[in-house]
Amino acid sequence: PVRYYDWIAHHSRRTPDKTAVLDLASGRRFTYFEFNDRIARLATHLRDALKVSRGDRVAVLALNTTDTLEVQFACGRLGAVFLPLNTRLTVPELQFIASDASPKVMIYDTDLAETALSVATLCNVASALLLGPGGSYEAGIAAGKPLARAEDVTLDDISTIMYTSGTTGHPKGAIITHGMTFWNCVNLGGPAYINPSTVLLTVLPLFHTGGLNCYTNPALHAGGTVLIMRAFDPGQTLQLIGDPAQGINVFFGVPAIYQFMAQHPAFATTDLSRLIIGGVGGAPMPVPMLKAWEARGVALQQGYGMTETSPSVLVLDREDAARKAGSAGKPVLHTEVRIVRPDGSDADIGELGELWVRGPNVTPGYWNRPEANKSSFTDGWLHTGDATRVDEQGFYYIVDRWKDMYISGGENVYPAEVENVLHQLGAIAEAAVIGIPDAQWGEVGMAIVAVKPGQKLSETDVMTHCAANLARFKCPRQVRFVDALPRNATGKIHKPTLRKEFSVTSE
Ligand code: AMP
Ligand code: MG
Repeated sequence: PVRYYDWIAHHSRRTPDKTAVLDLASGRRFTYFEFNDRIARLATHLRDALKVSRGDRVAVLALNTTDTLEVQFACGRLGAVFLPLNTRLTVPELQFIASDASPKVMIYDTDLAETALSVATLCNVASALLLGPGGSYEAGIAAGKPLARAEDVTLDDISTIMYTSGTTGHPKGAIITHGMTFWNCVNLGGPAYINPSTVLLTVLPLFHTGGLNCYTNPALHAGGTVLIMRAFDPGQTLQLIGDPAQGINVFFGVPAIYQFMAQHPAFATTDLSRLIIGGVGGAPMPVPMLKAWEARGVALQQGYGMTETSPSVLVLDREDAARKAGSAGKPVLHTEVRIVRPDGSDADIGELGELWVRGPNVTPGYWNRPEANKSSFTDGWLHTGDATRVDEQGFYYIVDRWKDMYISGGENVYPAEVENVLHQLGAIAEAAVIGIPDAQWGEVGMAIVAVKPGQKLSETDVMTHCAANLARFKCPRQVRFVDALPRNATGKIHKPTLRKEFSVTSE
């Protein structure tokens, strides 16, 4: 196997004085030399003081900060595994993940201290490091001598575990190898015009593949500059993009991000002309929203991907963005796709089938999930669950989703997980959750509930219980009470009937 090569160490030799990262919230700016030095010191501290060795997991629970990227690279030098955690999750949800992945260290920021420390205690995490001025993370970096020699790590070794929810109702950790990330940099770099002149603004969370790999890692791989925003703010984003002093020329967002920016009063007057690429993916992008950006001179580059494919699979070239609006593009370099019928044969041009993906950017499987690893692949082809068709010119269209999942503001919600939580309420006889269209978030959840005879349950009871156990984006926005749920011949709840009946009521 090919040796893993640390990009930051490389660029610190080639372009030591160039800005690698800028942490917008704290104003800290690190050159490649400084960034490399901090990573090397952090690696020593993790290894010598916290006894992190090859294969150990290191968790981060923090709003966006350049520190999170240091942890990713320090883990790489030790052969350890970076475990970024979703800051929107509640303690019970994080407890499940931390029990599954059993990290040795929890790195966290002040805003999330209570949650991080609760999870660390519940899951017996050996040590914790607090980010920020005066925190133990900075003290560790100050104390650590730069790591003299990195471990021998290959592209087949695990770099990261990223949790995604699933149709079985519990999150699964997608294994991300160094090779997957490397190949994504190669596959995406060309079509997204990522190069040493790239100045990227990252607003999506770094705990998702969209924030980490579109295009933060590719930009650092290329030796560009990355500005990290702590949490997305549409006004600040527009102001930064319009500011010639920042020189931002690459941006990526999920559809909801572009929607918030387009609704902002500054949208009409912001100078967007420096943007070479505005990438969008992660959820279906409404064509009217593409047109609103096109009217401001920005042809948004659509793409399709998944956490499990690290993530790029399809990208639309900039030249085709307006002409082929609505298409997710064509397969990226080194990645093969098929559109497959239920019987496993290849669909014809124009015929709807399931998208399958194969290539060096595809996950070898899920952490601790032998069952899912069997059912998710056929001969190395990953089943995406996405209903897709291709046109005569080879452009792909993601038309629908066959897995039971909906996307709210870029966050995936698996109804099975919400339904499990609803069933914890003793008064519930039957429950189903569906995604219904929503102008701002793309989709939001609706719970349809049948209460046991003689029992009482209010909408508030349902909402309160969900809020205590589920991240806000997973909590249903509406509850409908029915006598019984529709079932098909085999006794399964028939969601298409529910969607037909209830989707129209969305406000
Ligand atoms: P994630 O693992 O969060 O990246 O979610 C991957 C899923 O998001 C895919 O399987 C699709 O269902 C959906 N998705 C990603 N990109 C697109 C897109 N361009 N259009 C429609 N759905 C998308
Ligand atoms: Mg997503």
